[in-house]
Amino acid sequence: MSYLAKNYNRKKISFAKGKGSYLYTAKGVKYLDFVQGIAVNSLGHSHPKLIKVINNQSKKLWHVSNAFMIPEGELLAKKLAKKTFADYVIFQNSGTEATEAAIKVARKYFYSIGKPHKNRILCIKNSFHGRTIAAIFASGSKKMTEGFGPKAQGFDHFKFGDHKSLKKKITKNTAAIMVESILGEGGIKVIPDWCLKGLRKICNKNKILLILDEVQCGIGRTGDFFAFEKSRVKPDIVPIAKGIGGGFPIGAVLMNKKAASGMVAGSHGSTFGGNPMAMKIGSQVFDIISNKSFLNNVKKNSNFFFQQLNEIKKRYPKIIKEVRGRGFLIGLQLYKDQTNFIKKLMINKLLTIRAAENVIRILPPLNVKKTELSQALKIIEKVCSTY
Ligand SMILES: *Cc1c(COP(=O)(O)O)cnc(C)c1O
Repeated sequence: MSYLAKNYNRKKISFAKGKGSYLYTAKGVKYLDFVQGIAVNSLGHSHPKLIKVINNQSKKLWHVSNAFMIPEGELLAKKLAKKTFADYVIFQNSGTEATEAAIKVARKYFYSIGKPHKNRILCIKNSFHGRTIAAIFASGSKKMTEGFGPKAQGFDHFKFGDHKSLKKKITKNTAAIMVESILGEGGIKVIPDWCLKGLRKICNKNKILLILDEVQCGIGRTGDFFAFEKSRVKPDIVPIAKGIGGGFPIGAVLMNKKAASGMVAGSHGSTFGGNPMAMKIGSQVFDIISNKSFLNNVKKNSNFFFQQLNEIKKRYPKIIKEVRGRGFLIGLQLYKDQTNFIKKLMINKLLTIRAAENVIRILPPLNVKKTELSQALKIIEKVCSTY
């Protein structure tokens, strides 16, 4: 019997070792891992540079309180700010803490300028921003909120793509619009560039803040450091997590100067957030992924992979409805429930994970080799041919 609570629907398999794009069971059976902890292990398993950083830092200093200066965090914050729209960073430990912090930052900003009534956040219905009480009510999903008591106030929703309702839902009490640049759990739904631009315009017109949740789609996942970069839109607040730690739990909220202006001493905090160990690891991940040629390589390999996936779709038009996403945030949408397909991929030693709308999520490490992509394509084709 298992003493772990039953809040996960786990597959009956476990792993003893990981290296690059592969996972190994205790018996040495090898799986191509295109889940990578759900876009977390951005550099695959056991990256030599991360092992080195962890080993070195483990002998020096793991954790000190945010009551003291933390130079390792100063450095990572500076790197993030120099590379992106951000002027300030608060470090957290996970995605949901980062989205919570984003909500707090937006509300506190309006409070600090004497408009405390502006405290409502407008989100996409059935999006995903994490599992804390505030985050589940931000997502507005019935499944996630059911049974968890009184509704956390201050969230409004519009339907993905419903521009009319979006505009109608903005009131004098709206503080911010918060959306994922690409909906991950929601089924790898890309918000088109012109819509992100439209959102920025709407926010400017209504003098409200734009929060782009890049927890899943950020940190090189799409071939740009942030998914929204392609649209040239500048958000006010951006929560990040997953990919920035390369497997170590790190979250952060990035802000421009205006949005950060309400965050004064004592307004927010985290015991673990931004400790030297996490910051050293995050810095190393950042240095590798933010490199232009690294990101170009993500784009190049992703183009090859998308092209080939679309060829497979053409050969099996009755199975695959759509190939969607960008970079290595990929959704294979089937006409029917995807559970069995995912199971068959796994039997053929390719690990993938589900998302909403019959989507199979494919999340290779960003440094995946072309030969590994080809191997995955062969498995996908094989499963299609016997489906
Ligand atoms: C995963 C995810 C979160 C929550 O991150 P956790 O680390 O699981 O708390 C928030 N937003 C998005 C878009 C995510 O994909």
